[in-house]
Amino acid sequence: MTKEVPVYHLFIDGEWVETEEYTEVHDKYTGESIAKIAKAKKEHVTLAVTAAQKAFKENKLTAYERYEILLKTAELMEQRREMLEHSLVQEVGKTVKDARGELDRAISTFRISAEEGKRIAGEMVPLQGVPGSENRLGFTIRVPKGVIGAITPFNYPLLLGAHKIAPALAAGNTVVLKPATVTPIASFHLLNLLHEAGLPKGYLQIITGSGNKVGDWLLSDERIAMYTFTGSSEVGAAIKAKSGMRPVALELGNNSPNIVHEDADLLLAAEQTAHRSFHNAGQACIAVQLIYVHEKVAYDFMDLYLNIVKQLKVGDPKDVETDVGPMIDEREARRSEEWVQEAVAAGATLLLGGKRDGALFYPTVLTNVTHEMKVVCREVFAPIVTIIQYSNIDEAIHLANKSDYGLQAGIFTKDMNLALKASRELEYGGVIVNDVSTYRNDVMPYGGVKKSGLGKEGPRYAIEEMTEVRMVVLNLG
Ligand code: NAD
Repeated sequence: MTKEVPVYHLFIDGEWVETEEYTEVHDKYTGESIAKIAKAKKEHVTLAVTAAQKAFKENKLTAYERYEILLKTAELMEQRREMLEHSLVQEVGKTVKDARGELDRAISTFRISAEEGKRIAGEMVPLQGVPGSENRLGFTIRVPKGVIGAITPFNYPLLLGAHKIAPALAAGNTVVLKPATVTPIASFHLLNLLHEAGLPKGYLQIITGSGNKVGDWLLSDERIAMYTFTGSSEVGAAIKAKSGMRPVALELGNNSPNIVHEDADLLLAAEQTAHRSFHNAGQACIAVQLIYVHEKVAYDFMDLYLNIVKQLKVGDPKDVETDVGPMIDEREARRSEEWVQEAVAAGATLLLGGKRDGALFYPTVLTNVTHEMKVVCREVFAPIVTIIQYSNIDEAIHLANKSDYGLQAGIFTKDMNLALKASRELEYGGVIVNDVSTYRNDVMPYGGVKKSGLGKEGPRYAIEEMTEVRMVVLNLG
């Protein structure tokens, strides 16, 4: 007998809308079916945007009411911790530790967005200083853009949903969200909690289905005022090309470099890099991918690092002791295996791992690589780390800047002048000193350069992207 699983229909204008076709969502470790989700048709996307536009025009909520709803949602998430964590462990294959971390940050993102929503302000513009405008008073206000089209990736479905929905609502917009097909459940949890917290109908619609079709229909609907996308650089580029004159915020990939300088606290560097290389099975846009270590301390660092990595427990994400769970599917684990084999065939040295068991890919460390190898120049998005030696800081910065990406970088050094030089010269959206590229606090402006994207997230900065500056001029006569 097949097990009954929850069915998630589309959510449009406060109603669940059934469709003709559904697809299964699986537990990423056991493979069992855990839910069914709807495949939207083009007409559903049109209805969803119509509902969002209507709610935006009706403008039923004051800024303070939006604040209360977002804060209440954070409280409800806190109360439903166990359910939300379990859901993330199942649908993403995330370890319990990683699921707890994601939930904490999603709650924080709602709280910060609630606060920031009360502080949206413009500025006075000194018109009087220009001859002929002595009697004019000028100031700006920030107005919401309208319907925000949001598209999220598979790896942090709750947190990245929060980073789009919460600032969009805080600023007075309405949203049509398309989550990743393989991890859509977290978005439905957010939807239910937001409505329990008092969100009126029409403010948030969820449309599920393949990125190619549903994503494309969303992009072709001219009534959407702005797109906010997190995902791969390839899809990000396609979204930018299709969105025409409408603004886009793109949070894309990275192959995060982390520099360990000769004067670094090596134990700190080894512990931080080892733990943040492999969390979420390396499937994080700022996971440590490349470690540039000064040649004078390279062997000492590698000893410390490998000893910690060897102790990481790989396996069932539901076991609270597990550090590294499965990748999103076996195909991705096979792809990772191939990239490692290709690197080794081209002369790289495998220091650890390289082993695969279904969708589980064991923590893997390589060295003696060249820049052309995929494990170096592409985003691995897998538990694979490459260690590269350098002889002086300019060389390390030059190597890190050779990347096509530029999201976040880390540097370990006790020399603050050197840290500031690296902060100025590394072409990245964020430089983290004495911690890893993976550090993110949700209050920060977050977003990259080059192939890592456009625009900033973090509630205050996302609100700036999701609002329009409007100039107001009063003729005082
Ligand atoms: P993806 O680009 O394959 O998919 C992301 C989303 O886009 C999904 O919802 C997908 O269905 C949709 N999509 C796919 N094709 C589309 C199209 N043609 N038009 C519109 N939408 C489309 O990414 P993924 O595999 O889900 O996630 C991994 C990627 O996300 C990695 O590159 C990672 O670095 C990136 N990421 C970036 C950040 C960040 O904040 N910078 C955070 C997390 C993940």
